[in-house]
Amino acid sequence: MLIHKLTADECRDVLSRARLCRLACARSDQPYVVPVSIYYEPAENAVYSFSVLGQKIRWMRDNPLVCLEVEEIVSRSAWVSVVATGRYKEISRSTEDAELRRRASALFEKQSQWWLPATAEVTSTDRPPVPIFFRVMLGRLTGRRASKPE
Ligand SMILES: Cc1cc2nc3c(=O)[nH]c(=O)nc-3n(C[C@H](O)[C@H](O)[C@H](O)COP(=O)(O)OP(=O)(O)OC[C@H]3O[C@@H](n4cnc5c(N)ncnc54)[C@H](O)[C@@H]3O)c2cc1C
Repeated sequence: MLIHKLTADECRDVLSRARLCRLACARSDQPYVVPVSIYYEPAENAVYSFSVLGQKIRWMRDNPLVCLEVEEIVSRSAWVSVVATGRYKEISRSTEDAELRRRASALFEKQSQWWLPATAEVTSTDRPPVPIFFRVMLGRLTGRRASKPE
């Protein structure tokens, strides 16, 4: 198996295809990682996601430095993964953030019942709870690709 580094453009391509990431945050030296849905916005070099208030939102409010990982795994010897550092930025409900909120909401509303993964305790309702939208402004991007030698 050969492992190659991805270029920054290749990393961005992988992020553009990703609809799920592992999002890691930390508080008081304790890391915490959960899978969340994402959309990558290349023009902003940012990833959009949403949640309801819970541990990850509390922790990211306390410490906005996060890390995320996405991958495409075909087999043990054919995969690609990207790791990005970033900074959590919550999209507020203020009029100032109205356009950002509209944009974030439009991304996720493409999927029916898009809010369900974030709200396991309210699966019985057909009405979405009030979501907290956020962006992760990306910093350092690295990627690796594994392939079999020709
Ligand atoms: C395919 C997929 C897509 C998802 N998309 C989203 C999304 O877009 N937005 C979103 O907010 N959530 C999403 N989730 C759910 C997410 O992984 C978390 O379970 C959820 O957001 C609750 O996180 P929290 O920090 O608010 O936990 P809380 O409800 O505050 O609970 C905290 C406690 O529960 C445990 N816990 C929380 N989540 C998990 C988990 N997934 N697995 C094991 N233990 C857990 C933690 O260890 C912690 O001790 C998705 C999950 C999957 C599998």
